Amino acid sequence: MQKEFLELDGAIGGGQVLRSALSLSMVSGRPFRIVNIRARRSRPGLLRQHLTAVLAAAEVCGAEVEGAQLGSMSLSFSPGAIKAGDYSFSIGTAGSCTLVLQTLLPALLRAPDNSRLRISGGTHNPSAPPSDFLQHAWLPLLRRMGAQLELSLLRHGFAPAGGGQLELHVQPGQLQPLYLEERGAVLDQQARCLLAGVPGHVGARELERLAKRLKLPDEALHFVHLPQEHGPGNVLLLEVRCEQLTEVFAAFGQPRVRAEQVADQVAKQARDWLGGESAVAEHLADQLLLPLALAGGGSFTTPRRTAHLDSNIQVIEAFLPVRIHCKNLAPERVQVSLRTESPPIST
Ligand code: AMP
Repeated sequence: MQKEFLELDGAIGGGQVLRSALSLSMVSGRPFRIVNIRARRSRPGLLRQHLTAVLAAAEVCGAEVEGAQLGSMSLSFSPGAIKAGDYSFSIGTAGSCTLVLQTLLPALLRAPDNSRLRISGGTHNPSAPPSDFLQHAWLPLLRRMGAQLELSLLRHGFAPAGGGQLELHVQPGQLQPLYLEERGAVLDQQARCLLAGVPGHVGARELERLAKRLKLPDEALHFVHLPQEHGPGNVLLLEVRCEQLTEVFAAFGQPRVRAEQVADQVAKQARDWLGGESAVAEHLADQLLLPLALAGGGSFTTPRRTAHLDSNIQVIEAFLPVRIHCKNLAPERVQVSLRTESPPIST
């Protein structure tokens, strides 16, 4: 019997609405149609990163797809069975590899066998998780939920040049619920400044300013000088290791943005989170929802509801029989909890 298409309005959010829909369609077997893809973004429709995610998802589950062209604002996707494999996808620009990886991971966790996934493009993009965030913040939590994964950064890729590459090894398995009410005490903070084809004084000023703002000792400051041909690129990363989890904050050096401003952006994100009691900061919050949905339960606290959190909740609830509840515990502390709806009582 043909399954009914789920109808989605992409205007409720950005590329995440599409990517989450792809992930959920692959794991649930439910086909969907989406209109108004990224309608409110400055360059609406499918960019290369989104198109790569669509084509890659279609390859992993043998889907039938209509509307998979650059700039397309509507798409239909009918998934088939998920296949394990040795996959390799190239975005062709500096579009984010990490976002394509996140789209495919839920399906590969439910594949019949182990998979290897290589994606090339950008690994450190503004408005996307840097690969360090995946490696040190997101994937450790998925591992705690039972996932068996290994991620390697084979080459850095920055906008606009791209050319980066990630490799992921995935062993299939069922995720278990995760409950993260508190982050626990801060154990360690390390700042890293990546520089590729950017003068060293830029990085020195970023680290000096960040150290001053957050009172970091010299031993916590690190330069990573990458080959010039990997650039130009500059990102400042702060890893905050706590008892219950690690958070990673990032800001990007850009033409006409002073090094001190880049450091201030990282310091602000870290202080905002450290000043409150929440377990996870805003980016981890919206990126944990899908794993919790796959596990069928879990909860976390985060400072506030964001547009990404809200739109992701809508997409997940449309596909799966789960309910996601947001409860204000304090002015800057929201508890997000997910539970599976009990099956209707049969009469
Ligand atoms: P979208 O804007 O809809 O394409 O979604 C972007 C995704 O990237 C969301 O899941 C954001 O939480 C995530 N994201 C953006 N910036 C960062 C960052 N600096 N660190 C981690 N995740 C990020």
